[in-house]
Amino acid sequence: MAAEEVKWRFKPNKAVNTASDITIRGVLNAIMSALEPSDARPVIPLGHGDPSAFPCFRTSSAAEDAIADAVRSAKFNSYSPTVGILSARQAIAEYLSRDLPYKLLPDDVFVTIGCSQAIEIAVTVLARPGANILLPKPGFPYYEARAAFDNLEMRHFELLPERGWEVDLDKVESLADENTVAIVIINPGNPCGNVYTYEHLKKIAETARRLGIAVIADEVYAHLTFGSNPFVPMATFGSIAPVLTLGSISKRWIVPGWRLGWLVASDPNGYLRKTKIIESITGFLNISSDPATFIQGAIPQILEKTTEDFFDKIVNMLRESADICFENIKEINCITCPQKPEGSMFVKLNTSLLEDIDNDLDFCLKLAKEESVVVLPGSAVGITNWLRVTFAIDPSSLADGLKRMKTFCKRHAKKQKY
Ligand SMILES: *Cc1c(COP(=O)(O)O)cnc(C)c1O
Repeated sequence: MAAEEVKWRFKPNKAVNTASDITIRGVLNAIMSALEPSDARPVIPLGHGDPSAFPCFRTSSAAEDAIADAVRSAKFNSYSPTVGILSARQAIAEYLSRDLPYKLLPDDVFVTIGCSQAIEIAVTVLARPGANILLPKPGFPYYEARAAFDNLEMRHFELLPERGWEVDLDKVESLADENTVAIVIINPGNPCGNVYTYEHLKKIAETARRLGIAVIADEVYAHLTFGSNPFVPMATFGSIAPVLTLGSISKRWIVPGWRLGWLVASDPNGYLRKTKIIESITGFLNISSDPATFIQGAIPQILEKTTEDFFDKIVNMLRESADICFENIKEINCITCPQKPEGSMFVKLNTSLLEDIDNDLDFCLKLAKEESVVVLPGSAVGITNWLRVTFAIDPSSLADGLKRMKTFCKRHAKKQKY
């Protein structure tokens, strides 16, 4: 039979495309394709969050040794238990308990394929029919993509730039109803680069308690702070409202390719167990895959043996870059930074000062084309006419990139009218 006579029955699952349209990668790809190949200058990538390609951001030697030791031990060649190997769960529980008023147990910890899989699990287990989830705006679009894929209704609350990107708690109260299951908090913030105070986190927990909902705390940037606010884990308030803590070694150890993260029930009163959410998490893990066993096997050494020197070096480099960024951006008229960044850099774009630039996406496309500099438009993270400038790159490239941005803004500045 000729091929054209066959009626093929398969069609793509549209839910996949709908969800994948929401990702940062899609927007960045569009901007990358605007780059002008004839520009001989190197491309300056200030759009993505992966500094691991730069030699100055190499991971700790303790982490590299841990992986080599785990492989050579030949103890980690088998399948992993679906929840993660015990030594990894134990080590993660101890690592996180250092900053908490109570002790986490290995049973509270689920080892995941990066923080991304932890997000996937948290969103999926809560997505019963009719439920809704509260998400920050701006935020991290992977939550939107997963919620869309799971048919979980999303309701957005604003983060307030004039209040250091704090959660608009009045809005949260007004959005929630009896079908609300959780609120997502990203701290330290991405894309805003803010760090929440102890008091604000406590208020969030109290609000969650009043509403009877869980807190999903995305702490993938935990401890990567260099401003005045220290990092406080949401789990500190786990006895007020149950917290699902999500994290990974991707950012703090600068190894996003190692794909190791965790989902932790920070819930000393056991509400997540009583309501069978934990059972649902283990159920989910039975029908998905696990991080490579030798990476899990290396985790105890990675967490215990990496010295403060390494973390200090990274944080100091980021602080220096943040300063370079902050000072240079001050000199660009059409861009303002509401506060000195404590994490990444999120700045406001004033298109009214520019000629022939419609909005943030247009700005980013033209900047890529004319200056070979890539930055992320705020519209990709839920808020238009902002820009996320990632400064975790080597200082000379950063300075070069900012100089080109300045030139670009000057070239497109509205001419003074008299
Ligand atoms: C990078 C990032 C993640 C994903 O972390 P992985 O460990 O690479 O999967 C999750 N949430 C936020 C806010 C991030 O910036």
